[in-house]
Amino acid sequence: MKRLKHIFSDQRYIYWLFVFLAILPNIFMFFTESTSMLTRIVQIVLPLGFFAFAFTLAKKPGKPFWCLFWFMFVGAFQIVLLWLYGESPIAVDMFLNVLTTNPGEATELLSNLLVAVIFVVLLYGFGIVMSIVSWRSKNTLSDRFCRRQRIWSLPVLALGAILMIINVFGDRGFKAQDDVFPINGTYNVGIAINRFAKQRNYEYTSQNFTYQATNLRQDSVPEIYVLVIGETSRADNWSLYGYNRNTNPGTSKLNNLMVYSDAITMSNTTHKSVPMLMSCAGSEQYDSLYYRKGIITAYKEAGYQTAFYSNQRRNHSFIDAFGSEAHEVKFLKDKVSFAGNIYDDELIDCVKQRLDNYNGGKLFIVVHMYGSHFNYKDRYPKNDAVFKPDNVISAEKVYRKELINAYDNSIVNTDRVLSSIIRMVDANGVNSAVVFTSDHGEDIFDDNRSRFLHASPLPTYYQLRVPLLVWTSQVFANNYPDAVAQLKAHKAIPVSTNMVVFHTLLDMSGIYSPYKKDALSLSNKGFTPQKRLYINDHNEMLPLDSCGLKQLDIDQFRSHKLQFP
Ligand SMILES: [Zn+2]
Repeated sequence: MKRLKHIFSDQRYIYWLFVFLAILPNIFMFFTESTSMLTRIVQIVLPLGFFAFAFTLAKKPGKPFWCLFWFMFVGAFQIVLLWLYGESPIAVDMFLNVLTTNPGEATELLSNLLVAVIFVVLLYGFGIVMSIVSWRSKNTLSDRFCRRQRIWSLPVLALGAILMIINVFGDRGFKAQDDVFPINGTYNVGIAINRFAKQRNYEYTSQNFTYQATNLRQDSVPEIYVLVIGETSRADNWSLYGYNRNTNPGTSKLNNLMVYSDAITMSNTTHKSVPMLMSCAGSEQYDSLYYRKGIITAYKEAGYQTAFYSNQRRNHSFIDAFGSEAHEVKFLKDKVSFAGNIYDDELIDCVKQRLDNYNGGKLFIVVHMYGSHFNYKDRYPKNDAVFKPDNVISAEKVYRKELINAYDNSIVNTDRVLSSIIRMVDANGVNSAVVFTSDHGEDIFDDNRSRFLHASPLPTYYQLRVPLLVWTSQVFANNYPDAVAQLKAHKAIPVSTNMVVFHTLLDMSGIYSPYKKDALSLSNKGFTPQKRLYINDHNEMLPLDSCGLKQLDIDQFRSHKLQFP
């Protein structure tokens, strides 16, 4: 007991504890990152030298602990994310996700991260306690101890700097702000704050934007177009895409439904993918979003009545802004508490009410589902479960069977909502079309990487491949046989959903805008296949073969006969 007390009050032990805590994420990342060996060595040597030196700058290491607290905080965050995703530094999107997510969603995720969160809270909480002990203790580090630590730490710091300079010239992909923790984590926080501020300014930076959209068809022609945006729905679990379970009992019975077999998303995050689906940003620069309005505005300019129905919470992102452009806006979750749950089935009622009041004219509706977002078993009424057991006790690999059952039940629910909307639209007997895609897919412990969820810093095949469906009414098919012939002709062409949805919808609706590109419209004979791109964490558009996909992902592309560069 006395010995233990001695250890706790000895500033030398506290010094080593703090150095250990500061570089613990770097030790983990030495093993998790797939960067070059030299990069990983730099990532250990440089911070080790820095922190070992920095903690000698006061006789009581508890003082520099608080000066360097930011690095402890970001280190704890990093460890949790490594536990979740198995690799990669904290991304800009993760901070934005924290800012744009809602308490209900955050607690769903938190329960999944419980082990990692408890680990870092105990470890770094202990660090905080010891910093207070250090500060209040009468003991101090001796001059001799500080001198000895500086004698080795300064050369180590210099060695780290030299190795980093060598790496800058030797490895062209290396950047300290990308590859050295905690420089990258800190840099990304800066970008996240900047983006959040730009987002807040969006109302002003976009206020004068116009699509200059006009309708090329007669005002008297009644038309209904619907864009349904799914959530976390991956094509591999749709029977329309060859899944061996019947998860599409509704849509599989529809006529005039085109299934695009090789469609992938350009982002694995909701807050990026959905705004691209609701605008032309996916075919331009992602950052053009800050100065543009959404597709609803284009339809309004072309004389359409518009509606936006969402079963997601407002999250202060472009989704809210683009949705709010509509004449009629309903965020279903506004009416329930943060813990409250609403099934997507209520979206059917929204569309039904709108269509009950439809008496000709031009109508455009955007529906944003909550689809298959974790926790899957909360996405459908309990009695509607088709695949059982679906009661997931914990989001772990051992419960994969239950997770997949629940996930597939959520796909069945999405299928019911989508097919119901299509039937209701069809019943009006006018020119109409419904376009469906999901914002991104999901990892569900699919291979030996044991990956789970989406929005990881580097994507996987499972997060990228999504369903893309276009349904047209028979009236539309009769009036625009050329458009339908083109839609059919492009079913197997590799596409990025975020690039084509905007242009295809405007094209099918006969809307002209200088922003509309025929080459990106699946219904246009000028359609030209494009190189597929992925928006990385720094909003750069990267080719598929350099966005961090691994061999296991490429194998999936190949085995599903999908194009991979
Ligand atoms: Zn999403």
